Order: sequence, then C-alpha cells, then structure tokens
Amino acid sequence: PPTITGTLKNFMEWVDDVREIDVLANADTPADAKEARKNGANGIGLCRSEHMFFKPERISKVRQLILGSNEQAEEALKDLLKFQREDYEGIFKEMDGLPVTIRLLDPPLHEFLPSLKEENILADCAEQLGFTVDELKEKVEAMEEVNPMLGLRGCRLGITRPSIIKMQTRAILEAALNAIDAGIDAKPDIMVPLVGKVEEFRNQRDVIKSVADTVFAEQGKSCDYKIGTMIEIPRAALTAHEIAEEAEFFSFGSNDLTQMTFGYSRDDVGSFLPDYLNKGILQDDPFVTIDTEGVGQLIKMTVERGRNVRPDLKIGVCGEHGGDPRSVRFFANEAGLSYVSCSPFRVPIARLAAAQASVENMKE
Ligand code: PEP
Ligand code: MG
Repeated sequence: PPTITGTLKNFMEWVDDVREIDVLANADTPADAKEARKNGANGIGLCRSEHMFFKPERISKVRQLILGSNEQAEEALKDLLKFQREDYEGIFKEMDGLPVTIRLLDPPLHEFLPSLKEENILADCAEQLGFTVDELKEKVEAMEEVNPMLGLRGCRLGITRPSIIKMQTRAILEAALNAIDAGIDAKPDIMVPLVGKVEEFRNQRDVIKSVADTVFAEQGKSCDYKIGTMIEIPRAALTAHEIAEEAEFFSFGSNDLTQMTFGYSRDDVGSFLPDYLNKGILQDDPFVTIDTEGVGQLIKMTVERGRNVRPDLKIGVCGEHGGDPRSVRFFANEAGLSYVSCSPFRVPIARLAAAQASVENMKE
C-alpha cells in the first residue's frame, strides 16, 4: 500500500488534531499491527486471538488439545503458549506505548476440528492422536451443534474449558513482561468475549486475575493490565450497569450485536437481505452501517448505564461498523464512545470520519 506523505500527510495531521475520539485497529499479527500503526492507529482495539491458531502446525495442536488425552492436551497447551507468546510480544513491540486489546478465544471449538468430509485430514489427525478414523469421527460428531454461533463459544468456552484461557492469559502477560524487559511500553488489555451475564464476566475475570498473580509471583515483577468485556449480546446491553461494576472497559461487538438484535444471521447476509433492501424494508445493510433506531439505541443505553456506574468507563466498538463513516459519526456524536476500531486499511477513513463528526459538532 502507498505510504501517506506530503500534503495528504499534513492534512491527516490536521484531521487528527480535530477529531475527538481515538481510532484503533483490529489486528491479529505483528505485520497487521505494523500496518495499523503506519496508517495512524492509536492502538489495537481487537486482536482476535483465535486467528493465531489457524496455521497448519498450530491447528494440529489445537486438535490435540480438544480431542486428545490429558497428557496430549498438556503438551499441546505448552506449544500453543509458546506460539502465542511470540506473536503477542511482536504486537507489543509494534504498538510500543499504545493499548493492545487481546480478546480471549471466541469461535466454537468445532471450527478447529477436521471436517468429516476431508478423509485425508481425518486420517492424519486420527494417526496423530492414536485413534481409528471411526473413533475420531464419533468424537467430532459429538461436538457438532445445529447453531454453533449460539452455542459453545466465547466465554462459555472459557468457563467450561478454563485451561485454554489460563494458557492465553499467561501468554499475554509473559509477552508483556518480556517486551517491558526489552524497553517496550507494553499496555495489555484483556477482553472477554460473548458475555451475557455478569456472573460470566466475574468467572473469567477471577481466572485471569489468579493466573496474573501466579505469573507475577513466578517472575518477581508485574505490569499494568486491564480486564474488560465485549458487549455483543442484547442481554449484556440490558445489564450494562451490573457488568460495569466489574469490567474496566467495554467494546461493542457490533457484528454479533446486530445479528442478535435483528435475529439475522451474519453468515447468510446474501440470503434475503438484498431483497429486503429492494423492497424498502431495510434502508441500509445493518451489517455495514449501524442501525441507529434499534442496535444504536441499545448502544446508547449501554453507554448511559455503564457510565452511570463508572463515569470514566472506556467504551469503544470493534465490529466492522468501526470503519464505516456514517456509523463512526453516530458512535462519536450520538453514542459518546471513546474510540472506534477497524481493519488497518480502513483506519485513515475512520480518522477522517471522526474529524468530520467533530466539525459537525462544532457547527452545531
Ligand atoms: C463482533 O461481533 O462485532 C466482533 C467484533 O467479534 P467477531 O466479529 O469476531 O465475532
Ligand atoms: Mg463477536
């Protein structure tokens, strides 16, 4: 991508002086983080940690963790810890001095499992784990869900399989301590996905805190970190006042919040939504531009309820809407968010949209 120089660079500096909200980026690798910083991001608003698990040598470790014996799972956790620690350290280095928000594992576990249609992969996986192919198929089938997006994912996974988030928390904090030793100002924020009840957040926060205490005691040193949550289930929005008692920051997962508020599947947007746009039922695709009348009202209500309890609560959005100019205007001027977070390549557009929102405010 072209580097921003000359007149455009000067213009973007003016844009940054004018805008009142921060623009962060969604980045999962050190390379993405570098790109985000080059494009002027004020930090990372969402690192989808599960994306670090999809490389071939890593996914086989995840399968070993999910399907293997206790010993195999222990061994897999050690390897996954090492992979993650290296990646997080690289991200902290790129983001020296800026916040890095790392979300704990979110997708349903079956996304990591071999497909029942891929005979070769099934055979390799069965051999690695010491099963017959039929035994493996049975295990995979037992984990299948009819509605995985409404199933065992996000913090539900963290609650039922705490060893995974313990490993992730250790990787984040050990990476932060290593980076600090190397002279980097690492600022980790740990984010819990798919919370709907404050009890879910409390459970995960307690696990994270106890791992942090262990890591700090082992190393004889510590670092600052925050624990916050995604707000992406309508129930979390409705109970934001309870969650704000416990969470240090909120980040709207506007993709899931849109899906669950409308009841439209975010994975099937091509099915009937284009027709709904033609028929005048929808004015805009709600997965692109925030629906200010419904989802937007939930967002405003959450901000109000959260800040009533904790006036300085940091609240942002890290769904795709964070890079859509009309949505950015809503988040900045109507919802009162502190930041938006979007893909690295959309950061300059979001910076500009945030400045336009400020200019509009000044005019008013
Ligand atoms: C969201 O739901 O808006 C979000 C950012 O999380 P993901 O897209 O990974 O579900
Ligand atoms: Mg989500």
